[in-house]
Amino acid sequence: MSVMRLGYVHTRESDLDKAIDYYINVLGLEEVAQQDGKHYFKCWDEYDHHSLVVENGGLGLVKMGYKVASSDELSHLEKAIENFGLPVTRVSAGENLGIGQAIRCTLPSEHVLELYAEAEQSGTQVGVLNPDPWPSDRPSGAIGPDRLDHLLVTAADVQTNVDFFTRVLGFRMSERIIPSLDNEELLAAFLFCSNKAHDIAFVKGSNGKLHHFAFWLDSWNDILRAGDILGRNNVQIDFGPARHGITRGTTIYFLGPNGNRNEVFSGGYMTYPDFPSITWTADQVGKAIFYIHREVHERFNKHVT
Ligand code: FE
Repeated sequence: MSVMRLGYVHTRESDLDKAIDYYINVLGLEEVAQQDGKHYFKCWDEYDHHSLVVENGGLGLVKMGYKVASSDELSHLEKAIENFGLPVTRVSAGENLGIGQAIRCTLPSEHVLELYAEAEQSGTQVGVLNPDPWPSDRPSGAIGPDRLDHLLVTAADVQTNVDFFTRVLGFRMSERIIPSLDNEELLAAFLFCSNKAHDIAFVKGSNGKLHHFAFWLDSWNDILRAGDILGRNNVQIDFGPARHGITRGTTIYFLGPNGNRNEVFSGGYMTYPDFPSITWTADQVGKAIFYIHREVHERFNKHVT
């Protein structure tokens, strides 16, 4: 598939100083640059220039960036997006710090999507020659996730966004939630472009809103350790540690200092393009979201930014 992965999430924070402190000292991200009021972060095992951009003013998502395998693929996708009916804007190299030429469109869900093929690669903290499994200067009091993993956004019409991601961008649907076997309206869809269980998910809700974006940890032990660190720092836990039915991943959801929701995520099965989609019916939504606890609380359903 030509789209490889979620490359960056760009968010707004109502109190930028609190957010910067949180991402550095609780999440344990590395701040790699700041320019024009934007702060750029990356995780220790990421090659590209950054994976998170934070700017002042409000809450929620400014835009998301997915990295494409080549510039040729980008040209191909530009035409395909226009044929789907979405206007495309070209973004010149460097307009996003450290990122090459991009194309930008606004999804049916009103979220801004950028696709790009090139980024400055500053390398990981362990390098590519005889690397250690984790960096020696990994901050001991912070979570220190390996990588940005996925995001989940809300959409009034999940199906149209799934049509766009599957037909135009080549994603596949690993799992879905529908009202019942007699009514296949999509209430949620989990989509992948890699071999992971999801690279983006859409849940029925208001257009333009962010539910969460997630960072990858290696193991369930790391999830528990992350929980300890969140507790030590009095971060508001939304839910977890817990197990998802969908993706089978393990998780903690928590709210940053201004209310944007993050997740630490580990595990989950591998996907392949020939796998059929897994279906959950709405009467089993508790197990789908939190398999062990089997119920989803009000804030998890309602709180978006
Ligand atoms: Fe998630």
